Amino acid sequence: MPASRRVTRAVNEVLDLAPRRGEVSIARLVDAVAASRGRPIELKMADLPPGVCGQWRQYADYDAFLIQRGLPAGDRTLAHELGHLVMGHEGISVVEAARNTVELASSELIGYMLNQRTGCLGPSGEDAEQEAEDFGALLIYRLGRLPSDRSSIVQVRLGEAFG
Ligand SMILES: [Zn+2]
Repeated sequence: MPASRRVTRAVNEVLDLAPRRGEVSIARLVDAVAASRGRPIELKMADLPPGVCGQWRQYADYDAFLIQRGLPAGDRTLAHELGHLVMGHEGISVVEAARNTVELASSELIGYMLNQRTGCLGPSGEDAEQEAEDFGALLIYRLGRLPSDRSSIVQVRLGEAFG
């Protein structure tokens, strides 16, 4: 399914923030987004309930992305949560997050909050989940096509020209 223009625009905006040199990882993009918003984003490995991949929490003066510890596709989950943030979806407010910590033992609550398809814990609706999924997939695809170091690409081209 092709990503919507809204998703494509959001991915372009994030990639525009990418550092101009060196390897561009999802974590570095998260840092770049945080710097442009003037609001820190903390990345944390966490022991989330079974089946949950990631969670975005909104605190008073910073955001936090919690990624399930030991997840094989951590970057994908991080990109998904970043998608929620840059596309203006709602994260979990800190008050709610604190309440959840107490109540997470309740599987009914987990079922209510957890999107079964994406393994994302949050109050976002189905449309928001699809957008975040599209965003994550497109961002990782585009990242894979970025030269990891732009200066080395120039050298390769020179080498080809003279080889
Ligand atoms: Zn999600």
